[in-house]
Amino acid sequence: MSIEVKNVTKIYGEQKALDDVSFSIEPGHIVGFLGPNGAGKSTMMKIITCFIPQTTGSVSVCGFDVIENPIDVKRQVGYLPEHNPLYIDMYVKEYLDFVGGVYKIENRTARIKEMIDMVGLGIEQNKKIGALSKGYRQRVGLAQAMIHDPKVLILDEPTTGLDPNQLEEIRNLIKNIGKEKTIMLSTHIMQEVEAICDKTIIINHGKIVANDKTQDLQNQQQNQIVLKVEFDKSTTQKDLQNIEGVIQVKNSNNNTWLFEIEKDAVRNNIFQFAMQKEIVVLSIQKETQSLESVFKKLTT
Ligand code: ADP
Ligand code: MG
Repeated sequence: MSIEVKNVTKIYGEQKALDDVSFSIEPGHIVGFLGPNGAGKSTMMKIITCFIPQTTGSVSVCGFDVIENPIDVKRQVGYLPEHNPLYIDMYVKEYLDFVGGVYKIENRTARIKEMIDMVGLGIEQNKKIGALSKGYRQRVGLAQAMIHDPKVLILDEPTTGLDPNQLEEIRNLIKNIGKEKTIMLSTHIMQEVEAICDKTIIINHGKIVANDKTQDLQNQQQNQIVLKVEFDKSTTQKDLQNIEGVIQVKNSNNNTWLFEIEKDAVRNNIFQFAMQKEIVVLSIQKETQSLESVFKKLTT
């Protein structure tokens, strides 16, 4: 196992941030660690990377225990913290050289060049970190996390605060890196795990509420059909709710309604209803249920 977490609890003073958390991550996966703010994601990641100790339970990385063998763990793990505390007065290369020194990396100059190429820092490599955009700072953070060629990468909200272009670039970069390494990345954005993670662990109030292949979590939703129907004139929720086979209906906007229905055939009933009321169905569209609804169900 790349990461093995067993019955971990973390208590800050009076507050339980993690409550009997267990999961394992196999090599070669990109795992999304998904949860609302305050769920315990960063706390879990700080424990895995030996920054803080758990209160009870055990954590190992590539077979090394975080309490017994922290030095071995740190050799195997690269970490991009949530508020990536980069030294803004340092030049990009100077900073990477500094980090490389901490890890006692040989042929440092060559390795730094390799990292700059890998994360796409080329054109910005001679600047001070403080002069870089958030997207480029994240690249420096990723280079820093990978400079000692760890097997496992822990990325805490790596795309938070990026604009849509930067987001796309950093996601692609992470996907590429994931071909070689095991990655655990935290996020509170559902689309993120759909876009890049093959497995998803959902955490809420310090407890694991789902742990599955991303695809399987998405499939859980497929039994539920949601239709978006636009009529040409107004009607009432009460009337629509009475159509046979309709589980729930809510207004989307104006004359557009979202129907949760039992099965596809219920569409006929909606057409029948419209005909009787002399209403025209302008459009009818199946909404794909995303991981977002699984997430909402599990965390509210
Ligand atoms: P997330 O990263 O999912 O947003 P965190 O792990 O940062 O969540 O926080 C989990 C809970 O623990 C939150 O309620 C937070 O306020 C609390 N917490 C985090 N760090 C500390 C700390 N150093 N001292 C006290 N409480 C903390
Ligand atoms: Mg956090």
